[in-house]
Amino acid sequence: MEIFLERMKSLLGDEFEEFLKFYNNEKIYRGLRVNTLKCSVDKLITLLNFTIEKTPFCGEGIYIPDEVQSIGNNPLHHAGAFYVQEPSATSAVEMLDIKEGDRVLDLCAAPGGKSTQIAAKLNSKGLLWSNEVVKNRAKILLSNIERLGVKNAVVSNCYPDVLCNKLKGYFDKILVDAPCSGEGMFRKNSEAQNEWSVEHVKSCAARQLQILNSAKTALREGGVIVYSTCTFSEEENEGVITEFLKENPDFSIEDSGVNFGRPTLKYARRIFPMDGGEGHFAVKLRKNSQSLPAPSFKNNPVKIPDNVYEFYDEVFVDRPFGNKLEIIGENIYALPDNLPDTKGLNVLRKGVLLGEIKKNRIEPHHHAFMCAKPEQCRRYVDFDVNSEEIKLFLHGNEIKVDESLKGYTAVCVNKITAGFGKASGGSLKNKYPKGLRTLK
Ligand code: SAM
Repeated sequence: MEIFLERMKSLLGDEFEEFLKFYNNEKIYRGLRVNTLKCSVDKLITLLNFTIEKTPFCGEGIYIPDEVQSIGNNPLHHAGAFYVQEPSATSAVEMLDIKEGDRVLDLCAAPGGKSTQIAAKLNSKGLLWSNEVVKNRAKILLSNIERLGVKNAVVSNCYPDVLCNKLKGYFDKILVDAPCSGEGMFRKNSEAQNEWSVEHVKSCAARQLQILNSAKTALREGGVIVYSTCTFSEEENEGVITEFLKENPDFSIEDSGVNFGRPTLKYARRIFPMDGGEGHFAVKLRKNSQSLPAPSFKNNPVKIPDNVYEFYDEVFVDRPFGNKLEIIGENIYALPDNLPDTKGLNVLRKGVLLGEIKKNRIEPHHHAFMCAKPEQCRRYVDFDVNSEEIKLFLHGNEIKVDESLKGYTAVCVNKITAGFGKASGGSLKNKYPKGLRTLK
């Protein structure tokens, strides 16, 4: 680590001593980001039982105090009301300037912190395409997309060049949160420290440039790429961007208007522990060409059997995920608008997984309930975050409900859907997915 510290000294100059104080301190920054798709910031603040301090990086970011442990077990976390995210990791999406209706690609997306932040900004309008090249990580990404109630996402497990060549010019905005040497993670992850070497930094930089060059293919004329890393090395940050701009003179760095951290390359931002987070770099790049609308793709309408719509109406009110359905194998999906052709792109999910066709019935899927508001479900029960019932539900137990309830019923925590069960005769058969259940 001596070489790393020498490099930090030459990067930080007079501020190196201050950096060292943080580096040698065991206290690390922890944070959460409120998921406004499911819960407002004000509401979550009233439900959390700790002192609230907002982070400087995004309007939904809150520091988790040291004494708060196992926040992932909080029923509100199960319900997708928030995402646990290192505070400075929320900076990059702020620089993408997402507008409702945008088509956004998150090329290196797992486990999904930034994807779910993009989804909240899209507010279920437009399209989020979340891609992750490592299969097991893509599954974790998918489970976070489900938990946070994202309706308008495609989740894929594809190589960046394959994906971007197939979706040429399709996206308004692209996030490249590139795999890096993780110097900003050293304080909380000793594995990143063990893997570190100057050679590793150089090989990361080469890979980052390659990913960025793939990404540009999928960007429309006039579109924006934000490139980010959680490392400090100049090779992987300023170096990669300088090389990319040299190879691609049609791109330039744009002022994103944020003021966290400190500037580098004029408008790019660097965040060090002295700035309130573990560490990040982010830069906004604009493709300086005529602004043309992205190409649109026509979906071929496929006839959906009547009993599928009957099922949809039996479980939900006013078809909250739209009318455009698709059946693949046993699965029924409610699709977002203007979806491109997904063939050959190893897609794990598109839109909302509404249900699965079983022998003589259709069973709703957890994803659909997570995306619905309580009043969009035909039936729901609501419990307080501190109630025994919600604990039992998240353990996988049967719970007592009103005798009058019969059929698929959403289970909510303080009016935020957390899952569902099947009610009959005064009890609710638990349908909370086994892999998500809390331990007794
Ligand atoms: N954006 C994510 C978030 O906010 O939760 C974190 C992404 S992490 C910094 C980088 C991701 O890139 C990892 O999930 C890693 O598996 C993936 N990755 C690794 N090698 C890659 C490659 N050659 N091309 C694209 N992605 C790669």
